[in-house]
Amino acid sequence: MNRIDRSLTPLSRLWHKVLQQVLPAVSPLGLGVVSSTGAMDAAQWRELEFLSGAICQACGAPVPQSLDPQNLCLSCESRPPKVARTRSALVYSDLSKRLILSFKHGGRADSIEVFANWMAHAAPDLLQPPGILVPVPLHLFRRMQRKFNQSALLSNALASRCNLTHEPLVLVRRRHTPSQAQKSGKGRARNVSGAFLVPDKYLSLIKGQRIVLIDDVRTSGATLDACAASLLASGAAQIDAITLARVVKR
Ligand SMILES: [Zn+2]
Repeated sequence: MNRIDRSLTPLSRLWHKVLQQVLPAVSPLGLGVVSSTGAMDAAQWRELEFLSGAICQACGAPVPQSLDPQNLCLSCESRPPKVARTRSALVYSDLSKRLILSFKHGGRADSIEVFANWMAHAAPDLLQPPGILVPVPLHLFRRMQRKFNQSALLSNALASRCNLTHEPLVLVRRRHTPSQAQKSGKGRARNVSGAFLVPDKYLSLIKGQRIVLIDDVRTSGATLDACAASLLASGAAQIDAITLARVVKR
């Protein structure tokens, strides 16, 4: 049972199950009928761009095939990120943006299992124990607006595919930050700097541990780096991250 299911009353959960049995499965991108829950039609599937090929071993950005597989991209060489390894399943494009927005704002949680499968496939080594899965938190106001944290749903679904525990309360967002959408790289970093906190009661849990941050989209890496800075300052040993999609500079 996922977190959305848990938030429903028993009667509405039963009604939800009845509807699932009676109504046909619908594509996460619209109203088209598909073969099963979470499935997409073939044309949409072909348009999705999965990250494959050579990547920077730190931030996960695509790099030329000719580079040494252990190489870092120029950005990570000049300024090593606080997140040791980031891996993502999809390139953030118009189509994957619509897919994620329908999940995030449209209450379309029926695709969580599919998304978690893509993320697990993109980062099998990061999901090997030991480690703890920690979703990037929403501020309480945003959480109340949206009714759920999409990153926590993904983290919970990933935990069922590996032997890492899902700990959704290890990080809290202590201040509401304006949207990152219109900000430059430096503006994004300033916007989220110091925004995250590890509550005292979780300090012993993360001490000396490897943490795997889970988020829906990596844009500049500023949010993941701010989370990592807080976790490392609180005693974690290493921070990795898995996101469903990432922005790729062409
Ligand atoms: Zn890099």
